[in-house]
Amino acid sequence: MIARGSPARYADYSYRMRKYVIMGVQGSGKGTQSALLASELDLVHIAVGDIFRWNVQNHTKLGAQVRRTMAAGELVSDDLAEGVVKERLTQHDWNYGFIIDGFPRNERQAEFFLESYDIDGVIYLVLPDCEVRRRVMARRLCDGCGMDYNLIDNSPREEGRCDVCGGKLVQREDDTQEALAVRLREYHEKTNPVLDIFRRKEYVVTIDARPDKAQVQQAIRVALKLPPYRG
Ligand code: ADP
Ligand code: ZN
Repeated sequence: MIARGSPARYADYSYRMRKYVIMGVQGSGKGTQSALLASELDLVHIAVGDIFRWNVQNHTKLGAQVRRTMAAGELVSDDLAEGVVKERLTQHDWNYGFIIDGFPRNERQAEFFLESYDIDGVIYLVLPDCEVRRRVMARRLCDGCGMDYNLIDNSPREEGRCDVCGGKLVQREDDTQEALAVRLREYHEKTNPVLDIFRRKEYVVTIDARPDKAQVQQAIRVALKLPPYRG
């Protein structure tokens, strides 16, 4: 028998498949925190908004269907969102599990999700709306590689240029005051009830999203009883 806390047990533990959902308002750092968690634990990071944006940029049929809705800050139809998630998850490249960001965003999507997948935990990043505005307005994306910057604490070396590929830094089409107000309203109205559903199942760990990204990641690791973040 392997003793509790021994290295063998620890190694064994780290190979268990894990399925997480990450939630939080716009600019709370879902994308950043998911990426940090996914790279060390070999999880597949599924960002539904990124998949839609990729389709818009590449002028696909789906892109044409969602472009205007997204730019206005509204949610696209449940059928389209569920279709994207279903298709991504049927690829079965997630041997060690996945972390999904941007889904579910309303009660119907939550029901669909819970019928299809059992999850191990929901990470809820909490950020006050005033801080959301400050962060979202300072956000820039590279139009070449999609790398994401923040003019508050993560500026590129050369103004307006991506450090990685030299691409042009642009604002997301929905990072305007008007669209952000719609997105926040949608979030509070439709996505908060999803949290209540998950809370009833005792899946939710609540994390303060205000500290720097390494501290937030560390707090997630502690809350989910995962190995510490090595930074
Ligand atoms: P944010 O959380 O900052 O608003 P995302 O990148 O997650 O941004 O999503 C951008 C947009 O993509 C949303 O405003 C919405 O139009 C669409 N979208 C993403 N996920 C969903 C979803 N699960 N259901 C409906 N629409 C979605
Ligand atoms: Zn780039």
